[in-house]
Amino acid sequence: MTARIPVSILGATGTVGQKFVRLLADHPWFEVAAVAASAASAGKRYGDVVRWREPVVLPERIAALTVQPCAPPLPGPIAFSALDADAAGPIEQAFAAAGAHVVTNTRNHRMDPGVPLLIPEANLDHLALVDRQRDGRGWPGAILANPNCSTAALVLALLPLHRAWGLEKLFVSTMQAVSGAGYPGVASLDILGNIVPFIGGEEEKMERESRKILGTLGPDGVIPAEFAVSAHTNRVATVDGHLMTVSAGFRTRVTPEQALAALRDFRASPRVVCLPSSPTPPVEVDMRADRPQPRLDLERGRGMAVTVGRVRPCPILDLRLVLLGHNTIRGAAGQAVQIAELLVAEGRVERPA
Ligand code: NAP
Repeated sequence: MTARIPVSILGATGTVGQKFVRLLADHPWFEVAAVAASAASAGKRYGDVVRWREPVVLPERIAALTVQPCAPPLPGPIAFSALDADAAGPIEQAFAAAGAHVVTNTRNHRMDPGVPLLIPEANLDHLALVDRQRDGRGWPGAILANPNCSTAALVLALLPLHRAWGLEKLFVSTMQAVSGAGYPGVASLDILGNIVPFIGGEEEKMERESRKILGTLGPDGVIPAEFAVSAHTNRVATVDGHLMTVSAGFRTRVTPEQALAALRDFRASPRVVCLPSSPTPPVEVDMRADRPQPRLDLERGRGMAVTVGRVRPCPILDLRLVLLGHNTIRGAAGQAVQIAELLVAEGRVERPA
């Protein structure tokens, strides 16, 4: 592909918005044409208004862009949304109605029966909901949603096991980084030297979103997969990366050796493997006794792979394991870019001549 596709970022000044700017700066298919944020930032130079927190230099071309208000039209057929959820709902709908493909990280439309909740490696077929959504609402664009950051890592890691043995019961306890709360997020006096055993709405999101992602398409939307999820979510004093300890029970008996083989052999469909953001393999296994760890394992697959370790028998359910995923890359901006790549590769968004 020669000419790159112009794209816009809604909520470009926030934690996830900045990750979009970084990931799209050298993207082979996309070029950031507009950055947008709240009325407080609109009209100002992006480089002046953003509290840039990425550990790379902000590209000068992006720094020089004037922040736009979050109202259509903005340039390009794709709008990435990293908006505050309190504002996102009507803004994302307005962009879809104006013809944009909105790939969103917000919670607002995830459980809408017409909106695909996508992990490309897991449920490519749910893309068909886009056609129903457009027909049903009569708008030329569409909304496509990313799951919440902990769900994205959890479901990708368990996908090979679910496909082989059928998940029945899942117990998960998370240790979630502060960047998951956006900027400025959790007050330092609340989190330094501490653990907060509550993240508002997160347990419910993990329980319902995982079942939608692994569900099957029915006439009225997705029929959720039939398994029970018990989630315990905790905010810990790491910067990036959500670590989770999991016990899982399956419909068919599975040994740790069989599970390890399935995790190691797992590959995405060729329609996903070919996308620039897709990691190979999507699930990395590290059976060293003290891995995975956020500081050492988070950048695997450029933040798009999840790492699984400590796969062992569970005396209550079938298996125990530990998993790690990057919350702002696989759990947010990186996977949204991968979904947009899928739209292009599947011919749903046209490439410039
Ligand atoms: P954040 O750092 O608080 O950024 C929020 C963004 O929304 C900023 O760009 C802000 O612009 C903009 N905004 C706020 N109110 C607005 C309004 N009324 N109109 C237009 N723009 C407005 O949040 P974040 O962590 O990046 O998260 C963004 C979204 O992604 C949230 O919905 C979050 O739940 C979701 N998410 C986050 C993560 C994560 O790991 N952080 C992972 C998955 C999903 P100003 O700077 O101008 O205020």
